[in-house]
Amino acid sequence: MSVLIFIEHTEGAVKKATFEALTFGAQLAQQTGTTAAGLVLGSPNHDLPSLGAYGIAKIYQVQNNLLHSFDSQVYTKIICQVAEETGATVIIFSNNAAGKSLAPRVAVRLKAGLVSGATALPDTGNGFTVKKNVFSGKAFANVAVATELKVISLNVNAFTVVETGGTAAVEQYNAVVNTPLVKVVSTTKTSSSVSLTEAETVVSAGRGLKGPENWKMVEELAATLGAALACSRPVADAHWRPHTEHVGQTGIAIAPNLYIAIGISGAIQHLAGVNRSKVIVVVNKDAEAPFFKAADYGIVGDAFEVVPRLLEAVKKIKGVS
Ligand SMILES: Cc1cc2nc3c(=O)[nH]c(=O)nc-3n(C[C@H](O)[C@H](O)[C@H](O)COP(=O)(O)OP(=O)(O)OC[C@H]3O[C@@H](n4cnc5c(N)ncnc54)[C@H](O)[C@@H]3O)c2cc1C
Repeated sequence: MSVLIFIEHTEGAVKKATFEALTFGAQLAQQTGTTAAGLVLGSPNHDLPSLGAYGIAKIYQVQNNLLHSFDSQVYTKIICQVAEETGATVIIFSNNAAGKSLAPRVAVRLKAGLVSGATALPDTGNGFTVKKNVFSGKAFANVAVATELKVISLNVNAFTVVETGGTAAVEQYNAVVNTPLVKVVSTTKTSSSVSLTEAETVVSAGRGLKGPENWKMVEELAATLGAALACSRPVADAHWRPHTEHVGQTGIAIAPNLYIAIGISGAIQHLAGVNRSKVIVVVNKDAEAPFFKAADYGIVGDAFEVVPRLLEAVKKIKGVS
């Protein structure tokens, strides 16, 4: 058995979720007495050998101009070719947008068992059992994988990154690269400077803010904390905020270290997308708001009084005027 980890990059930088996937893959390889290698498609600016710090000894790199923009069909074929030729038996992705499109395709092509949304290292004591989130994070399931080849996608922010030191040898890999069937002709970036799914801290607000004109204080709090912005669904539906910020069951699912929810009731559909956050802070003027049941810290008060004071306190701690 050997482990192959997909290294994801965007705009030249390797994604933070990849560091978690590399640590996960390296620890799985160590646990099962095998080796772990990374696979990168394209040419990130990142110093690839330095990724050895996460526990992998080798990185396969496939470079080709056709790989500049992500095409899941092209990527899938290359990943399968490398997996087959290198004898990888466990292939690991991050359970994010790219991983959600690649992992099932790779699993089908390789006739591998797939576990999406893994949250912990597999139990390999007797077989191969993976713990994963189910029902929007309200429960866990332990899934036994019976196939020889296995594909796992790891939930983002579910696994602690460990840097052990060391460097990885980078091997250029000669893979067949098909011409993509679709071509990305242009991209438009969304307004938030911090990616919602990768953010350590997310500041989110709901209908309690009364209108889009009141978001300035929320934006300032997020900027001061270096946080991404999010919102509840009715806020996006009313066009107070873009739908790219809508979190929840029908929006983006996130798992930051800190989620600050301001003027959001905490409906079950909202919680479904945020309940994997490590620490939840709720600001709501209604002490009976359901969100307080899911909160680690709660402030019962009017957002228009609490948020400016919170902002003032954060600025003082950070030494920002
Ligand atoms: C199929 C389905 C899918 C859905 N998917 C999603 C989803 O993905 N994401 C999502 O968010 N919702 C989703 N919803 C909607 C969800 O059920 C709730 O209606 C929604 O989350 C409520 O948004 P809210 O908390 O911003 O607004 P409200 O329910 O109106 O709550 C506003 C909150 O602000 C508080 N408040 C008011 N004024 C202040 C103030 N001055 N200071 C502090 N607090 C104040 C109130 O006490 C209240 O708790 C879905 C619903 C359905 C049926």
